[in-house]
Amino acid sequence: MSDKQSMQFQAEVKQLLHLMIHSLYSNKEIFLRELISNASDACDKLRFEAIKTPELWEGDTELKVRIEIDKEARTLTLIDNGIGMSRDEVINNIGTIAHSGTKSFLNQLTGDEAKDAQLIGQFGVGFYSAFIVAERVTLTTRRAGLNHNEAILWESHGDGNFTLETIDKAERGTTIVLHLKEGEDSFLEPWQIKSLVRRYSDHIQLPIVMKGETEEETLNQANALWARARQEITDEQYKEFYKHVSHDFEEPLAWTHAKVEGKQEYTQLLYIPSHPPFDLYDREQRHGIKLYVRRVFIMEEAEKLLPHYLRFVRGVIDSADLPLNVSREILQESKDIDAIRLGSTKKILSLLEDIAKDNEERYQQFWNSFGQVFKEGAAEEHANRDKWAKLLRFSSTHLDDAKQTVSLDSYISRMKPEQKAIYYVTADSWTAAKNSPHLEIFKRHGIEVLLLSDRVDEWVVSHLHEFEGKTLQSVAKGDLDLSELGVDTPKIETADNEKLKPLIESIKNALGEKVKEVRISHRLTESPACLVMEEGAISGHLERLLKAAGQEVPQSKPILEINPEHRLITRLQLENNEMKVKEWSLLLFEQSLIAEGGVLEDPAGFVKRLNELML
Ligand code: ADP
Ligand code: MG
Repeated sequence: MSDKQSMQFQAEVKQLLHLMIHSLYSNKEIFLRELISNASDACDKLRFEAIKTPELWEGDTELKVRIEIDKEARTLTLIDNGIGMSRDEVINNIGTIAHSGTKSFLNQLTGDEAKDAQLIGQFGVGFYSAFIVAERVTLTTRRAGLNHNEAILWESHGDGNFTLETIDKAERGTTIVLHLKEGEDSFLEPWQIKSLVRRYSDHIQLPIVMKGETEEETLNQANALWARARQEITDEQYKEFYKHVSHDFEEPLAWTHAKVEGKQEYTQLLYIPSHPPFDLYDREQRHGIKLYVRRVFIMEEAEKLLPHYLRFVRGVIDSADLPLNVSREILQESKDIDAIRLGSTKKILSLLEDIAKDNEERYQQFWNSFGQVFKEGAAEEHANRDKWAKLLRFSSTHLDDAKQTVSLDSYISRMKPEQKAIYYVTADSWTAAKNSPHLEIFKRHGIEVLLLSDRVDEWVVSHLHEFEGKTLQSVAKGDLDLSELGVDTPKIETADNEKLKPLIESIKNALGEKVKEVRISHRLTESPACLVMEEGAISGHLERLLKAAGQEVPQSKPILEINPEHRLITRLQLENNEMKVKEWSLLLFEQSLIAEGGVLEDPAGFVKRLNELML
């Protein structure tokens, strides 16, 4: 009795299928790579589970992928003896959303075909790519360890429905039959399949075999790519391997491959992607390192192998020393893992150093993709702190473009002879930072200031207090003294000071609890006033970030600094009407708050005051 059941793909899958079939048409042969990649993953999983449960081998230990061509039936078939899938796994893995990122991917679609085709290129296409060339796909699978009569037949035309049926299957693993579309006959030519396997799947560790005229022929090299000598691997092969391990469709930005000997013996093949994955900022973000022990796949997403701030790195680490039955819990505690983690971190930092040295543009590309995550190392990276800090990049008053950045080293090379600190300003956006009134005195004297407007920048400067003996100093904090730089900060004669005292007193009275203090500024040359924080207090910008994140914020009041040379201030000095002084003081405070990206407590009151002034 058949239990055949018809089911619907999730709406997202339908959308994805449609898009893929229409936008990857010029690249259709990639379906073969995707299906072989899945077969290889399935065999890796079997090999791993069989360490604990040897019965899963069912007497068949020769893992491989077989390809069969039937010209008459116009089918191309891939057969693997990997882990297979149970009924639930079939439904979950290829009936619903295959990738955790699918939803966020689809949200980014624009409806513009050309743009979306580009986007899908950045998204792993996986199993569904079969429908680029097949009008019907039949998949039969039995999970290793289940009974013969618990196998599943899955079939779909890629049009929104699929059917499921319980069948009998003697061999464990998965068989996928592609009923090719009209016009796709080239995939029935053995030479074509051979050349595609060599091009896209040569790095696969298992043999990929095809029946020739007489006997079975192995089409690939069938040994682990990372175990081969570097000089025997072409760039193309490295790139194809990257696509396999990362499930990324695009080429990597760079990679490093090394065999490490010594106390710990391991091989690392690590890649830096060329663009951020869709889930880079998800809290649950996947880590991209696969752990192998002596060529046996142990686990995916081995997050202990690299620090969190390098979570964009993809690749493989193959240890010669760890036990095969290593678990996540063991990894947590393992000293061996600590050594591997340290070694791999160093390798990645060196790779980045090389890129930065050899190819600034490429480094900038890396930075634009992953700089924000890399900066999280501020709190995490201790062992390689200097190496890490040298790789940081920041926007600067020295550059006109928000996209360009400078390193701390290059900042130092431009410092004034007497300059001791590395100056920075933080703000909500690049434009706000660039135009911050706090920069006026620096601009006038040509002193470079770093413009920090990434969310994590406050985090960076709260952990990175100095670099190469130079302190990092906010231009919006403390009582600036630039006199050692030969900068004559606006001279405030004591006499002037005395004269301003009554005004300062009335402004302070007008503002009451809003400010901690009112004082004469050393940093303004154009604006009438600005808000600064005491040394050690958190900045207004950080306060807003913390509040937005729902955190308790220690109360710290700003200091209002006024520019005695500004005409508004001299005018205010002459004002006798107490009410007016009060309103103007509030306006000064409010405009200073707006200038640094703050939010007004009473916006309507501000508008009213401004309008009165305009009248
Ligand atoms: P990905 O490989 O990136 O996970 P795919 O769309 O290629 O995405 O595959 C989706 C899932 O379907 C896989 O993660 C796996 O669980 C399952 N799968 C696909 N092909 C096979 C296979 N040959 N054997 C066992 N499971 C498979
Ligand atoms: Mg896949």
